[in-house]
Amino acid sequence: MTKDVLVSPQTEGLKVITNVEGTKFNKSNNDGLYLGVFEAVEIAISKAIYAQKVLTISYKKEDRERLISSIRKATLENKEILAKMILEETKMGRYEDKILKHELVAKYTPGTEDLTTTAWSGDQGLTVVEMSPYGVIGAITPSTNPTETVICNSIGMIAAGNSVVFNGHPGAKKCVAFAVDMINRAIISSGGPENLVTTVENPTMESLDVIMKHPYIKLLCGTGGPGLIKTLLNSGKKAIGAGAGNPPVIVDDTADIKKAAKSIIEGCSFDNNLPCIAEKEVFVFEDVATDLINNMIQNNSVLLNKEQVSRLLELILLEKDVKSYNCNKKLEYTIDKKWVGKDAKLFLDQIDVEYPTNVKCIICEVDRNHPFVMTELMMPILSIVRVKDIDEAIECAKIAEQNKKHSAYIYSKNIDNLNRFEKEIDTTIFVKNAKSFAGVGFGAEGFTTFTIAGPTGEGITSARDFTRQRRCVLAN
Ligand code: NAD
Repeated sequence: MTKDVLVSPQTEGLKVITNVEGTKFNKSNNDGLYLGVFEAVEIAISKAIYAQKVLTISYKKEDRERLISSIRKATLENKEILAKMILEETKMGRYEDKILKHELVAKYTPGTEDLTTTAWSGDQGLTVVEMSPYGVIGAITPSTNPTETVICNSIGMIAAGNSVVFNGHPGAKKCVAFAVDMINRAIISSGGPENLVTTVENPTMESLDVIMKHPYIKLLCGTGGPGLIKTLLNSGKKAIGAGAGNPPVIVDDTADIKKAAKSIIEGCSFDNNLPCIAEKEVFVFEDVATDLINNMIQNNSVLLNKEQVSRLLELILLEKDVKSYNCNKKLEYTIDKKWVGKDAKLFLDQIDVEYPTNVKCIICEVDRNHPFVMTELMMPILSIVRVKDIDEAIECAKIAEQNKKHSAYIYSKNIDNLNRFEKEIDTTIFVKNAKSFAGVGFGAEGFTTFTIAGPTGEGITSARDFTRQRRCVLAN
């Protein structure tokens, strides 16, 4: 604990907030300070180092659980403010769904109960393996679930005895600052140390670089797209990488079509398709396809014709020329980010298509290679592809999922089809006959997370993933 590393845990370096446009403050925030938010990333890190030492020395597991309960309570009390702030800042998603996401994270993210100790005892003594903290974790969060991820990561990381420095998405930095302040106030109000959770006022690639290279930060945890995961995995440090998905859905000829249509549309349109787990494309058996589409239309969806699909493509995708290895040019698409998470109505207005007032989702019948199938849109747009049988359905779904090992869904009563798809697609989340959110404990069993680590294999992350194993031996 050298002096240059440990800065005293007072208000030095704290960001003073005089006003945040268009946002109501939490009452407890009327001192004008944003607790845990610092101008310099180096200060954010040193405060978190100090806080973690205090946590280790002065707090037991049951104390950590008390701090976490307080974070859960603060999240539930502030869920409307958080939802409103995200909408104002990122201009993506749906207010009512963001409230549900905050309820989910507050209630179902595991705390200290997730930690277990393994012990062996016998003639030669006692050996214990404990789940111990890393220390300070560097966490990078997305714009699509900005505060949900900060809250989820904070609960799990503190439960495991760590502190955390966040580098949030620059497009959601005010929400992240608000969440970090809320968490700090919740911790302090239940007798915990300040700065267990910190962030930098203006997160940048440079601040991320400082976090990645800091000798005291031994674990990185990133939730976001492929660029982020690549950067973290090249950092030379242990990293948990929760990357992009493009979840396919199969609907076969034994499925309950009415239920499947409702469930798929609800999943696809939830928070305007921002969640990485949200349904993106459907492969449906030919003989039930029309029935499925008709039922989807009855569930707040609008079906586009071919010409309207082309207009939508021009609106939301940008062409980019990519040179392949043999130097031939091939055409690829990237999404126009300004359309991510927007309401279905806005797209339909732009392409001159009439819609009912309750429209939530746009459905497009396309072929299996269409850019809408192969691109993670994160918009309330669902592509539907007709397939002849389960072989073709699985083949198409695997190509669309692109081996991201993220999520996949199926509606079927055929055990062979259910089992085959599960084995062949081999995703981190696989849901049968229910919508995507069942995979993270919403309307189904099991705990939740907002960091689904497919690329690095931790899966549905929780407190135990933020620990190192430590063996303590008493011999003879
Ligand atoms: P994004 O990748 O643009 O940003 C995520 C974070 O990474 C941000 O903090 C950003 O500043 C940083 N970042 C971006 N590019 C980087 C790079 N090259 N090097 C280092 N840092 C970089 O993602 P987004 O638009 O905010 O979020 C959407 C993406 O995240 C989607 O692809 C979605 O599938 C994915 N996501 C995955 C999960 C999961 O649990 N697997 C959860 C939410 C979102």
